[in-house]
Amino acid sequence: MEIRGMPARDILRYISSGEVSAAEVVETYLDAIREIGPQTNAFIEVLEPAARADASRIDKELRDGGSPGILAGLPVAIKDNICVKGAGCTCGSKILENWIAPYDATAARRLREQGAVIIGKTNMDEFAMGSSTETSAYGVTRNPWDLSRVPGGSSGGSAVAVAAGMAPLALGTDTGGSIRQPASFTGICGLKPTYGLVSRYGVTAYASSLDTVGPFGEGVWDCALLLEVIAGHDPLDATSHAKEPVTYTKALDGNVAGLRVGVPQELLRGVSAPVKAVFESTLSTMEDMGMIVEEMSLPSLAHAVEAYYVIAAAEASSNLARFDGVRFGRRADAGTLDEMYTRSRGEGFGKEVIKRIILGTFVLDTGNKDRYYRRAAQVRTLIKDEFQKAFERFDLIVSPAAPDVAFKIGEKIQDPLTMYLADLITIPVNMAGVCALSMPMGFAECDGVSLPCGLQIIGKPFDEQTVLRAGYCLEQEIGAGIREKVRHMRQNLGPVRECELVD
Ligand code: GLN
Repeated sequence: MEIRGMPARDILRYISSGEVSAAEVVETYLDAIREIGPQTNAFIEVLEPAARADASRIDKELRDGGSPGILAGLPVAIKDNICVKGAGCTCGSKILENWIAPYDATAARRLREQGAVIIGKTNMDEFAMGSSTETSAYGVTRNPWDLSRVPGGSSGGSAVAVAAGMAPLALGTDTGGSIRQPASFTGICGLKPTYGLVSRYGVTAYASSLDTVGPFGEGVWDCALLLEVIAGHDPLDATSHAKEPVTYTKALDGNVAGLRVGVPQELLRGVSAPVKAVFESTLSTMEDMGMIVEEMSLPSLAHAVEAYYVIAAAEASSNLARFDGVRFGRRADAGTLDEMYTRSRGEGFGKEVIKRIILGTFVLDTGNKDRYYRRAAQVRTLIKDEFQKAFERFDLIVSPAAPDVAFKIGEKIQDPLTMYLADLITIPVNMAGVCALSMPMGFAECDGVSLPCGLQIIGKPFDEQTVLRAGYCLEQEIGAGIREKVRHMRQNLGPVRECELVD
């Protein structure tokens, strides 16, 4: 049986019915990582022995009639800024090259408690700053649809792990689009939860007022399942909300006819013609399904990117102060204390991170705070208010998840402004603190290659249910063709190991 690349739901069924062992499933994925890992550079660390040990423990528990949890035996890849006890946590940076996490992040602990097998730590832009995974100190991750293209970022490694069939599920983080944009570039689903829904305890902070942790999966159901496990109140994270837990997988079926869907014109500016065409055809499908689609406007979004880069840099400059060679991070040899700080940070951080720390320090400087930081905070309030008002009229807001398909490696890295502007569509969602799903909506031609592009479905705060339900129903309409293309893409990457059935 070909387990690799199956939806998580099916793999779980085979494991729980005893047809396939968790150990066999893990071997299949480890094999895939061995085969495809080097081509794509999606993983920074593969947790082979630990994953094998976890899988056999779960098999034993299942044989003994126990219930190891709703993710029993399912491999999950984790972005390398989320702590997994005993594994490295480089954040894509040289400065943390040799650091081993002494504890599990709450999200990782919750996965383990439900029987997930953590299979590896995935590549990312350094400290999650970037949109292409090119700022990683461990080399760029390649897009499995075209190895000369970026997978998006900053959670590019997690997206590729799922897209290429090296893990059925993965965790990423999203501060300004780092889950949704790579999901769009690689043809899978990714969800940025409402701020405060998923604990960030044990996750290296980039911009604390915007950071979120969320799931990647091939389909909407898979994302709903992973969200169900990681969501919920955590006393270890002061920004975590005490909400009633929701069984997201149960909220997927149901009617979407009558849902009011707004399409903000500001989010269509700069979208390429081929992506716009796929988006328009998706809107017609949504109308055919009975949703009421209407154009609308959110004027303050025009300032979202500028305000975001002020706020994110300011918070990053403060958060990254702890990597100084004393509290955290590799210490450089030096004759004096000052030299030690300067060299530890100067040699440990990459160019993009240093640029953001300088920018952040500048906007927080006494004379500049009012001019930049406070004004950016005011823009954030405007954006939040505008979303809140819009959600009185609409149940959902939709847009493409990225202005274009995956770009070529090296194409934008020398031109940071174009790279930053590419975040225009995803950033407002983080500024407003609301939730959004990115799911594949189709393919657009680029230089003769057919590349995936995603739809962004934005929902009210803590209304992930409606977002996931709309996405799931839409997937029933348009998903079959997309899945077929994903299967082809995976076959092109290398042979698939057949899974042995338990006698
Ligand atoms: N590309 C954006 C940035 O560099 C968003 C990154 C993210 O969401 N972590 O800040």
